[in-house]
Amino acid sequence: MARRLYPNIDRFRLWAAWMVVAIHTLPFASFGGAWDGVLTLTLCRVAVPFFFMTSGFFLFRGGFADGEAVRRFCRRTAGMYGLAMLLYLPVNLYARQLVFPDVIGDILINGTMYHLWYFPALILGVLIVAALLPRLRVGGTLAVGVALYLLGLLGDSYFALAEAVPPLLAFYEALFTLFDYTRNGLFYAPVWLALGAFFAARQDRLPSLTVSLGGLALSFGVLIAEGAKLHSGGAPRHDSMYLSLLPCVFFLFALLLGKREGRRGTFCRDVSMLVYLLHPAVILAVRGAGELLGLEKWLIEQSLVHFLAVSLLSFGGAAVLCLLWRRLVPRAKQPASTRGTHLEIDLGALCRNARALEAEMPEGCRLMAVVKAEAYGHGAVRCSQALWSAGVRHFAVATAEEGVALRRGGIGGEILILGYTDPAAARTLWRYRLTQTLVSAGHAAALDAKGYPVRVHVKIDSGMHRLGLDARDPDAIAGIFGCRHLKITGMFSHLCVSDERSGEAVAFTEEQLSRFERVRELLEKSGGAEALTVHVQSSTGLLNYPDLRYHLVRAGIALYGLRAERRWETRAHPDLLPVMALRSTVALLRQIPAGESVGYARAWRAEEARRVAVVPVGYADGLPRNYAEGGGEVLVRGVRCPVVGRICMDQLMIDVTALGDVAVGDTVTLIGRDGGEEITAEEVAERCGTITNEILSRMGERPARVYTE
Ligand SMILES: *Cc1c(COP(=O)(O)O)cnc(C)c1O
Repeated sequence: MARRLYPNIDRFRLWAAWMVVAIHTLPFASFGGAWDGVLTLTLCRVAVPFFFMTSGFFLFRGGFADGEAVRRFCRRTAGMYGLAMLLYLPVNLYARQLVFPDVIGDILINGTMYHLWYFPALILGVLIVAALLPRLRVGGTLAVGVALYLLGLLGDSYFALAEAVPPLLAFYEALFTLFDYTRNGLFYAPVWLALGAFFAARQDRLPSLTVSLGGLALSFGVLIAEGAKLHSGGAPRHDSMYLSLLPCVFFLFALLLGKREGRRGTFCRDVSMLVYLLHPAVILAVRGAGELLGLEKWLIEQSLVHFLAVSLLSFGGAAVLCLLWRRLVPRAKQPASTRGTHLEIDLGALCRNARALEAEMPEGCRLMAVVKAEAYGHGAVRCSQALWSAGVRHFAVATAEEGVALRRGGIGGEILILGYTDPAAARTLWRYRLTQTLVSAGHAAALDAKGYPVRVHVKIDSGMHRLGLDARDPDAIAGIFGCRHLKITGMFSHLCVSDERSGEAVAFTEEQLSRFERVRELLEKSGGAEALTVHVQSSTGLLNYPDLRYHLVRAGIALYGLRAERRWETRAHPDLLPVMALRSTVALLRQIPAGESVGYARAWRAEEARRVAVVPVGYADGLPRNYAEGGGEVLVRGVRCPVVGRICMDQLMIDVTALGDVAVGDTVTLIGRDGGEEITAEEVAERCGTITNEILSRMGERPARVYTE
């Protein structure tokens, strides 16, 4: 599956920006107002809802509000608003518009220029939708958005209705002492943002093309009729909200979302934003130029010429500015790899694995995605974002730093730190809402003494004897529940031979489970364990003991589609796909005459003439040095080729004699599939005498990760 880029959404931004220019210049004014009433002030009204929906769609990924992402979005929007206000400050000063206290309402709601209402509305709307989503979910939020929109409608193009009912009129007159229009962050923005969230929650289930096209045509027709009716008795109080705008924009967005592949249109996005920001300044400039050049008749009074001049200058200016910006500010983005070595991470496979594991779990049990050590080398933030979009709400990491990185990457939900954290970091734990594992009674006391209401899970040592309070010492465990500040929300243990299915291993696992259960029962009797989230299984815990009923399964290696060891046979075997591939390229080919050696220590000698390729990947890229001695192979053109000589820090050599044709630039697959052949990380681990987890977790230090969805 290709990464979803929605190129049509980006392209339509340009059209939408042009519609906004039209609304503000009224191109048909010189030909009588009717055309503008129907076309400009009605049809073009889809533009701003479209912009809001786009924000909602990309911000509320998966239909969820994530605090971190919302904050970042609002900060960025406020920053842009601040810049725009500065830009138009001279105009405000010239027109003496900044009168206290009205200026406060202007900054917070109306905008300090007529088009700048958009930014405060976006921020307020996003805050409202973000507050509603966790409580009411997408459906409820949408309902509230529609209700607010209907209220707004009566203060906008349907104001005539409100005027006919005195109490309503009084209500709206009171409102209009607070702000100029109902087209704002409270009444107008939420419904569009919620519609965006609606599509984000169900982006795989769009209406069919025929339904979208039919729906769009029909609702456009109704919109024109509605606009014509409302404008028939003179201009309404304001005319940016219509009933049929809702289905119109809905079907329009569905159509645009239909195309997912193509080039990302960041240029379109930036140009459209600049046009939106700058066109009022361009309008002033065109008027000024008209007066200066004595061309008032054309540049100002002829509305169509005026509109075209403003459009041309706005789009031209924005495009030039964007191009200049790109020229002057070096691109942060480099090519994925300048030497052709990279990790391919298939986020689609990751999410499918998550679903396959969830299917093995009993009712009510949830997946806790273990993304420690950069998600076993796959990249913790990107993987967690993909899993978050797929509905995963529990994550586990090894350290507080890893947890903070996830929060900064916009991950909400629960993030459990599985390992020890110095109590001195209590504030960080609390501030980033990280859940800390209590590894001992002393750790609990020291952390509690810091006085922060940190969420914690109590680790019970049921026999592994690594971290945790001894299951055979219930008094110490009960003592932990007396801490004053910590919020104990969970309790867990870890199995140490759940991967093995020998009688002895199974007996030991059962002993671990019964020790853990005894602790749980004791705590339940004392009333301490009722509300706790309880979890024991890791990947093999689930796959070998799928009938256990706990609240969470902490799955790591299986999530990445692999087994720690190739020999594992588990009771359950869901369909899991490897997520990672390590690929490089042929940098150089050379002929090795018989008797010559290759590489350090002359460890490999050619008994007869051989063809050898040099591949720019080495042990610093995560491929262990002893892989060659273990009989390591790589894939070129779907054929296994042996690694020859010692693996170097940055490169290795392979024997490609068996391949008829091979060329510089050919792809070399170190881990992954090529044609009908596959080398799994499990195979690499086995040849290196270790487990898959170790191979994976050391990947990605140097090779860039390239993500596909
Ligand atoms: C790493 C870890 C896991 C995940 O183990 P996998 O075998 O990779 O599924 C689960 N629980 C704890 C405590 C861990 O440290």
